[in-house]
Amino acid sequence: MYIGVANLVSLMSYERNTYHNMSKLIFYLVIAILIYWLINNRKSKHMKKETLIKPIEDMVCCTHCGIHLPKSEAILIHKDYFCCKEHCNQHISH
Ligand SMILES: [Zn+2]
Repeated sequence: MYIGVANLVSLMSYERNTYHNMSKLIFYLVIAILIYWLINNRKSKHMKKETLIKPIEDMVCCTHCGIHLPKSEAILIHKDYFCCKEHCNQHISH
């Protein structure tokens, strides 16, 4: 009977210990997730800024009609940018 109670007490204290360890683990896990989330949030904000700046940086002017268009969509011939092939041909023929 005495051994049974002692076993029960040790089992209970063991359970309490594991519960304590578990809560500690969860606490650290929450902190880790928080740090991870904070870093990710900063990264995404930084990326958003970059994508906002890019289209302004890459805007060029059509040499023929003066329309503004993204550099990637413009036609570059002899250091001159054109919005379309027609304007490019018109500018060369003139
Ligand atoms: Zn044009």
